[in-house]
Amino acid sequence: MTRLMKGSPYWSSRCAALEPYTPGEQPRDRRYIKLNTNESPYPPSPKVLEALKTAANGDLRLYPDPTCLALRETIARRYGLPGPEWVFVGNGSDEILAFAFAAFFGPRKRTGSTPASGSGLITGQSGPDPLYQDEAPLLFPDITYSFYPVYAQLWNIPYGTIPVSDTFEIDPREYLQRAAGVVLANPNAPTGRALGKGALRELAAFHQQNQRVVLIDEAYVDFGGESMAEDVKQFDNLLVVHTLSKSRSLAGLRVGYALGHPDLIEGLRRIKDSFNSYTLDRLALAGAQAAIEDRDYYDAMAARIIATRERTCTQLEALGFEVIPSGANFIFIRHPARRGAELFQSLRDRGILVRHWNKERISEYLRVSIGTDEEMDSFVGCCQELVEKPNT
Ligand SMILES: *Cc1c(COP(=O)(O)O)cnc(C)c1O
Repeated sequence: MTRLMKGSPYWSSRCAALEPYTPGEQPRDRRYIKLNTNESPYPPSPKVLEALKTAANGDLRLYPDPTCLALRETIARRYGLPGPEWVFVGNGSDEILAFAFAAFFGPRKRTGSTPASGSGLITGQSGPDPLYQDEAPLLFPDITYSFYPVYAQLWNIPYGTIPVSDTFEIDPREYLQRAAGVVLANPNAPTGRALGKGALRELAAFHQQNQRVVLIDEAYVDFGGESMAEDVKQFDNLLVVHTLSKSRSLAGLRVGYALGHPDLIEGLRRIKDSFNSYTLDRLALAGAQAAIEDRDYYDAMAARIIATRERTCTQLEALGFEVIPSGANFIFIRHPARRGAELFQSLRDRGILVRHWNKERISEYLRVSIGTDEEMDSFVGCCQELVEKPNT
């Protein structure tokens, strides 16, 4: 695809060609009920805030531990993994996803049939050019986290999308084909639909044979999904990515982590240490550690959000909304008699922010983060008004 150079003459053509991701708005013009970026409506654990205060001391003059060892040990213990070499941590899971795309899905040297960790690099089979571009593309669904195509473009990774069904279901069997790798969000964004572990294990096993990475982005798994965290012990090609931004109420701290075979973790570290050795600062390390350790608090918060989600879904269905089943802290909805763009704007005018995409297949839908019970009551109240008397 040729694209006209636009923007500043100071930009490299790489920079000028980018189509960056657009995050949900964080407006400052008035107070909104913010149901647009899947943040938690509840504060982080008091133990996290305590740990942050303790860490705010004179030691900030010192660099943080570039290996983030203590945090990685805590995470390994939490998920029953053998040790910290199975864990990578990053400045938000978005950063980890960016690193993973670079580490696992770009062009690579042709390898033999032995695992990539062995000494199985077979040379002399791929002709004079040692850099072998896998002809099969990276695969992900057409409706999913819209950062995936952005990362693919950033690293020049050829990718293909597989359409989800009309009701946004993913059929994992469609991904049992030659590919440079597979990326699935489970539960998926922005639909909230969750997949069971059985089919994903089959997917991991299939691509393990071809030594291709299957990346499962479990940003929302704590709200009712089935995690593959422990399956990384069985599948050395499986990378499971989590974030503290959603279920741990720490979107402002910027911490995510990945679980996988030590060879995958080492691949991520190679990218990180070619970019920025200190992606997590001292405060982030301390707060994240406390968050991982306070399981009781976060289990209770997730249970509350799930209860609010179920109650909200019932109320919206009674108003005639179609509600896609959600395993996440948001819901994906549409009303048969109201345009998505119109509902979005009317809600915004009433001080309620939700997310809407002017994108094929989903332009009639709204993605609504689950807030507190009071916030959702206001949201449902507004929806009722808009559905019953549209011209206000
Ligand atoms: C929110 C989200 C992330 C990113 O989370 P950060 O850790 O805040 O960068 C990643 N993947 C999906 C699917 C998300 O919705």
